[in-house]
Amino acid sequence: MEQAGRERLKAACAGRVLFDEPLARHTSMGVGGPADVMLFPADLDDLARCLRCLNEAGLPMTPVGNGTNLICRDGGVRGAIVVLKDLRDLRIDRETGERPPVSGTRPGPPGLEIQPRRESGDPEGAPDYGRPGDGVATQGADGAARESRRETGEPAAGAGAGADIPGRRAVSVTAGAGVALQALVALALKEALAGAEFLAGIPGSVGGAVRMNAGAYGRELSDILTAVAWLSRTGELRQTPREALT
Ligand SMILES: Cc1cc2nc3c(=O)[nH]c(=O)nc-3n(C[C@H](O)[C@H](O)[C@H](O)COP(=O)(O)OP(=O)(O)OC[C@H]3O[C@@H](n4cnc5c(N)ncnc54)[C@H](O)[C@@H]3O)c2cc1C
Repeated sequence: MEQAGRERLKAACAGRVLFDEPLARHTSMGVGGPADVMLFPADLDDLARCLRCLNEAGLPMTPVGNGTNLICRDGGVRGAIVVLKDLRDLRIDRETGERPPVSGTRPGPPGLEIQPRRESGDPEGAPDYGRPGDGVATQGADGAARESRRETGEPAAGAGAGADIPGRRAVSVTAGAGVALQALVALALKEALAGAEFLAGIPGSVGGAVRMNAGAYGRELSDILTAVAWLSRTGELRQTPREALT
């Protein structure tokens, strides 16, 4: 890549920019030759700037998360690898059960809807996600036993698993693409939320898990995903509900 192009990319990206970087340093397999350029955008606005710059330069772009499902060739990759590890916004909305709006400064890809645990007074037909004492999600991250929580009010609209339990609000978790799945699982443990247990042990990021529809034990990410926020190659933020994803 010529020097002027390098300078433009360095000016566009607030995060790290590496040239001719061996991909073997960034994949679980430890294989892969050099990428022409690797960009590590610092946040969503930075990512939008990087994408616009790459688009204007006519450079091909490959998004990468934690590199746990990649086998790269020894000859390397032409164009740009955009690593999303630093998009680590992670938050819960309990008050309304609605996902907060996605804006340029508050990234929200994607929304995951996770339910509080079922209790004995729950209505007929409500899904059972386990009880205190069952399985991994009954302990907080600090190891202390947790009681299940019940939240009252209107159910949230949405496609998340069990989102229509009468008398119970759904809890929305919004995670940036770079959030490690283990951080998401740890949050669910800490907050006594059931539904994401199957992700425990999968070493990827949220973005990579959405792309791959990661799963285990008969469950997959699409079971708890409600929407994906994404950027076009010209840096425009868009949102797609789970139903519209193929
Ligand atoms: C030890 C081990 C155990 C594993 N166990 C499981 C398992 O039980 N179940 C399972 O499903 N998988 C498993 N995997 C595979 C892997 O962890 C998953 O596929 C995971 O979802 C990949 O996430 P990642 O962030 O590492 O993605 P990467 O490897 O970085 O990328 C994978 C693909 O997703 C694309 N991508 C990544 N991030 C984005 C983004 N933000 N936007 C658009 N595209 C993106 C990349 O271009 C690439 O095509 C395992 C892997 C290892 C090494």
